Amino acid sequence: MESKGDWREGLSRCVRCGRCRSVCPTFSLLRREWAVARGRVALLEALEEGRLEPTRRLEDHLSTCLLCMACEEVCTNQAPVVELVEEGRAHLVRERGKPLYKRILARVLEDKALTRRLVALGVLSRPLWGKAAPQYRGLALRVPLLKGWDMVPSLNSPFSQGGEYGVGKRGTAVLFLGCLLEFVYPDMARATVDTLVALGFRVVVPSGQSCCGYPHLAMGDREGARRLKEANSLAMEVEGASMVVTGCATCTAHLKERYHLPLPVKDVVEVLLEEGPEAFEYRLGERATYHEPCHLARGQDVRELPLFLRSVLGENFVEMKNYDRCCGFGGSLSLAYPQVSLGVGEEKARRVEETGASVVLTACPACVLQINRCLALGGVEARALHVVEALGRRESSEF
Ligand code: SF4
Ligand code: SF4
Repeated sequence: MESKGDWREGLSRCVRCGRCRSVCPTFSLLRREWAVARGRVALLEALEEGRLEPTRRLEDHLSTCLLCMACEEVCTNQAPVVELVEEGRAHLVRERGKPLYKRILARVLEDKALTRRLVALGVLSRPLWGKAAPQYRGLALRVPLLKGWDMVPSLNSPFSQGGEYGVGKRGTAVLFLGCLLEFVYPDMARATVDTLVALGFRVVVPSGQSCCGYPHLAMGDREGARRLKEANSLAMEVEGASMVVTGCATCTAHLKERYHLPLPVKDVVEVLLEEGPEAFEYRLGERATYHEPCHLARGQDVRELPLFLRSVLGENFVEMKNYDRCCGFGGSLSLAYPQVSLGVGEEKARRVEETGASVVLTACPACVLQINRCLALGGVEARALHVVEALGRRESSEF
């Protein structure tokens, strides 16, 4: 928020109607007034008016918001809840400093060399915290923070920065990787590159790119977010490029809203949609459903993917109830408040189970991570994938 006036105006927009209670995933789980937009805005107002101290408890109440924007979508008075919560978190960081977990996470995500060293360490020690622990026992129970994290896939081969792919009959796309595609899902990064190359783009993956900075913003670290924005904006200056593309809905939404780059920013999903369903085929042949990432639909207003998938997958596509409800990841929330994150994710796993699908298609690596761990913890026989990993260009299609 630009000014104190904007902040007050934003707070005053909430008229306490309670409409947001019907869509808020944290309220649905916790059934507490502080766990819904109305209650969180009331707490922020009390803080602003000096009726409330910036306590640890207040920090918990604000930090358990998933920033999913579902409340904003139904709010007839257009209360900017997510911005208010982000601003409230920044206020608490200024007043109280960052809690240790936020300090560590912000530092790791900002320092690529440190991230690489930690990933290498994670790979070496994985037998201790990963496979060695049975899914529901061992470390997964003794160390609550690790619950479900043995589902993190191959950390051993980060996707390399600095590469160039394809010949570029249709122009040059700059690929912004983001942390999860680079370090956790290199295969997803590869599939994003392959998709763009198959459609006729030259793809450049610039060196020097880092975390997009959204996690920092969400943790109240505006300075960290600003530093990353500046460094990434410089890294993405590629001569002759026609667009910046990402395979992560959260990164795309953040780049679109806050970066103000000279090139258009597109989610890879938008590239698929522009091409049309007739240009693609489904490569898995299994029954699949779809989970809509908050940062794709509400963050970017890209809402045509379910229709597109229905057209490409035909009878293999089955719609999931509440497919647009947040998966519960919430970034640092999943580490600091695993009971909230897993509680919301448990419902998603149940919805997947109801469909009978063995594949959950989505468009955000964070949703893939969260849904896979919740499916595993819930004993549901299905796996989540990014759409680019399941679709390929139809050989007969022209571009
Ligand atoms: S945030 Fe919007 S929907 Fe929720 S109580 Fe306030 S005015 Fe109503
Ligand atoms: S952003 Fe999501 S979790 Fe946060 S108050 Fe709104 S609906 Fe609830």
